[in-house]
Amino acid sequence: MTHALITGGAGFIGSHLAERLLEAGQQVTIIDNLSTGQFKNIAHLERKHGFRYAIEDIRNIHVMDRLVSECDLIYHLAAAVGVERIISEPIETIEVNIGGTEVVLKTARRYRKKVLIASTSEVYGKGTRFPFHEDDDRLMGPTTRSRWSYAASKAIDEFLALAYHKEVGLPVVIMRFFNTVGPRQTGQYGMVLPRFVRWALAGEPINVYGDGQQSRCFCNVRDVVEAVFALSQSPAAVGQVFNIGSQEEVTILELAQRVKRRAGSGSDIRFIPYDEAYEAGFEDFRRRVPSLEKIRAAVEWEPTTPLDQTIDEIVAYYREETSNGRN
Ligand code: UDP
Repeated sequence: MTHALITGGAGFIGSHLAERLLEAGQQVTIIDNLSTGQFKNIAHLERKHGFRYAIEDIRNIHVMDRLVSECDLIYHLAAAVGVERIISEPIETIEVNIGGTEVVLKTARRYRKKVLIASTSEVYGKGTRFPFHEDDDRLMGPTTRSRWSYAASKAIDEFLALAYHKEVGLPVVIMRFFNTVGPRQTGQYGMVLPRFVRWALAGEPINVYGDGQQSRCFCNVRDVVEAVFALSQSPAAVGQVFNIGSQEEVTILELAQRVKRRAGSGSDIRFIPYDEAYEAGFEDFRRRVPSLEKIRAAVEWEPTTPLDQTIDEIVAYYREETSNGRN
């Protein structure tokens, strides 16, 4: 029986992945320091056969050494995430993202375990050629703007993983997640869709930053997890970088209107200047669209969930959370 270790397994994507692997009959261990992950995301898995968890920081090399020695492969999802958090805690962002990945790769090398590493579409920076291809050039903003520390730290993670692959033959796969959404994602650290849903359900104003004409492609977490699972099974994926996301593009204003409609909400839509929303000089991306050619060719993966269905799932999730008095 395959034994998977998921770092960041109590997080949004990690907890969905844990569920999927348990369903596939795998043994799953997660490690999470609950910095942005939440115990309630995995509480329902606690009694499942083959599941166990460690509430610990991945930079604890002794714990990681033991967990890595016991597993067959590692899904490294633990990271500092969320634009708001990155801007308010840039030290933690850089240290966790780089230091944590160093520990994962060092221990994986010691026991020769395959590692799938979560990266991000942020590494494309201010790309202007759409859709983004995995081998495109990257254009980053200045180091005086905290937002870019996230992209830079994740790019270092990618470099480091690929270096382990090249120099010592460690099997690594890099996954560049685009905007992933679904139940359990929290809006606390800046992610737009859960925030819009909560405001819509509470009848509070929906805050759209900038002019709302910036666009994103939102991919359902269930589809994302299928892509991760498929990549983990593919020998051809080793040593490669893959985009994982949807190509269904929507402006943020349109997203606010759709959330409002689907939640049956009377909320106002309010425009907030970027400087007020984040910090002076904040740089947002106007567009962000993944090329899916590479992942399609490697594992025949396509996202299948339409955005409206995902919005409905998130609305249902937050309705239940509210009725349980948990939020
Ligand atoms: N956004 C917004 N209102 C919010 C949070 C975010 O209008 O309350 C905008 C944000 O400025 C960006 C888009 O929604 O243009 C997506 O933001 P998110 O932080 O979810 O993802 P990312 O910027 O990483 O794509």
